[in-house]
Amino acid sequence: MSRETENNAYQRLIGIGLALSAEKEINSLLERILKEAKSLANADAGSLYLKNRDETLGFAIVLNDTLNLFQGGVDGAPVSLPDVPLVTEAGEKNMTNIVSRATLLGKTLVVDDAYAPDGGFSGTRQFDELTGYHSTSCLAVPLKTLAGEVMGVLQLLNAKNEDGETIAFSDEVKLLIEALSSQASVAMENRYLLDGQEEMKEKLEREMENRTEELKVALEKLSEAHIVLKELTTFDSVTGIRNRQFFDEVFEQEWRRALRQQYDISLLLLDIDHFKKVNDTYGHLAGDECLSAVAQEIDKMLNRPSDVVARYGGEEFVVILPYASTDNALHLATQICDSLAARVFNADGNNISVTVSIGVSSTVPGEEGRPRDLVSQADEALYHAKSKGRNRVCVYGAK
Ligand code: GH3
Ligand code: MG
Ligand code: MG
Repeated sequence: MSRETENNAYQRLIGIGLALSAEKEINSLLERILKEAKSLANADAGSLYLKNRDETLGFAIVLNDTLNLFQGGVDGAPVSLPDVPLVTEAGEKNMTNIVSRATLLGKTLVVDDAYAPDGGFSGTRQFDELTGYHSTSCLAVPLKTLAGEVMGVLQLLNAKNEDGETIAFSDEVKLLIEALSSQASVAMENRYLLDGQEEMKEKLEREMENRTEELKVALEKLSEAHIVLKELTTFDSVTGIRNRQFFDEVFEQEWRRALRQQYDISLLLLDIDHFKKVNDTYGHLAGDECLSAVAQEIDKMLNRPSDVVARYGGEEFVVILPYASTDNALHLATQICDSLAARVFNADGNNISVTVSIGVSSTVPGEEGRPRDLVSQADEALYHAKSKGRNRVCVYGAK
């Protein structure tokens, strides 16, 4: 190669290096590497192999003058060259194939006569059989990472010229292709790293999606647990019926519903008569059990699912009766009052009889009315029941 040609070649090499690093996709990069190498070396054909993890060299692409890229079987059918094992079946290093040997040695190999009895390589003959080609000389250059690990092999081939002579690869060409290969390797390594980053990004995104899904499930469970917990906190621990907080919430809702739909809503406010005496006579524990028994008894006597009994405080209970008119409410209150008076509760080993006084209030809510007014009215009626001698029902506003 003349000095001028050499200078031109190296000029070109710089351009090729830049062009290679601009390739955005690994397959087009490999194709470009092979095309540039073939053109720079003025070779007849070329192929590229990439090292697989499983100790084989995977065929990537093949290129020659008469046959198109990826094609060129004897009948023009697409060529897919078999992978090249780096280890023989006997477990030895595969040195009879030129690309395998170049990989294992990590060195450029130049073979002037591929069919020479001593320098022949089985891979070259296999290549020829598959492509219908007749290689004579070959050049195999390992493509290495910056760390020196072989990523693949670039192979160039020359056929015999018209005079049947072998065209060997010169030392200059070898140097040139080695220089190109190192540029190609950098471009490939960068591409792999970038693709790896893409893959890593996708993996992270997938993981993120999974995490989000897990988090969603956990949150759902938490919210279910929260609902259960919230439900639990609406019960009174002494009596097992709903507590005051629950009453406040539900009564507010029922009030608004009755207001919207304009139907009756009634309240019963119940207070156990002389309960202090129960505690004083039988003790606080018996008092608690009695309180609970009374509460359960009231609960049992409610008819509709929307009827709710709650502990209003101390020995007082409140019953919400949506859709119940004054008469209905009075009827139920009287039933409760009579039934409790007739019962004997067993509390902490004692037979205890109690009576209750009940105040009843009813209304069809109006815009100006407030729920707590109905509570006050029931309380007022309860006060009357107490003052009239207890163990009775009084209706607010009744004479
Ligand atoms: P009245 O007929 O006027 O209602 O008389 P009373 O004794 O029931 O009313 P008072 O308000 O004087 O006393 C209420 C009693 O209820 C006093 C209190 O110790 C008792 N009490 C309130 N809460 C509980 C409780 O959770 N457990 C027990 N054992 N007793 C309670
Ligand atoms: Mg009381
Ligand atoms: Mg009382």
